[in-house]
Amino acid sequence: MKIGVLALQGAVREHIRHIELCGHEGIPVKKVEQLEEIEGLILPGGESTTLRRLMNLYGFKEAMQQSDLPMFGTCAGLIVLASDIVDEEGYLKKLDVTVARNSFGRQVDSFEADLDVKGIDHKVNGVFIRAPHIVEAHNDAEVLSRIDDRIVAVREGKYLGVSFHPELTDDFSMTKYFIEEVIGS
Ligand code: GLN
Repeated sequence: MKIGVLALQGAVREHIRHIELCGHEGIPVKKVEQLEEIEGLILPGGESTTLRRLMNLYGFKEAMQQSDLPMFGTCAGLIVLASDIVDEEGYLKKLDVTVARNSFGRQVDSFEADLDVKGIDHKVNGVFIRAPHIVEAHNDAEVLSRIDDRIVAVREGKYLGVSFHPELTDDFSMTKYFIEEVIGS
């Protein structure tokens, strides 16, 4: 399968590596036309304000709102997918959740955690870097993981969003879940 990674900003190469570890082809997506060539799209972490600005500039906002591709947002990518952002207007509004940005503290407060994720049979190692959390999952959005009372992974149909960076570890099970369970279903 060809899986795209939105390559405007952020941790692109690391996601391509995880896609390849899953036995699939990872495509850096820089132009909207490339959305036609792939079967799923990963929105990487980075800085969601910059990501939104570049998506506006290159026509990705409209193209992705109209697209019915499965999408997986990590960290800033989750913020971009969310229907609501605390104190800001939601952007793509694909995943029916309210997110709060930078809710685990500042850059110096980055941390790793071993998470229980529904549908994955071992602890998933995630890296949190100025991470958002999901304040509330609405309607059909299913909570897959929490840290204490904070939601950090959600799936709604063909959309998957996590607060953390799974691609910065050697555990590619979140990418595998996206490819096999989300795209594959
Ligand atoms: N804090 C960033 C934002 O709000 C997200 C950080 C990340 O993707 N690691 O966009």
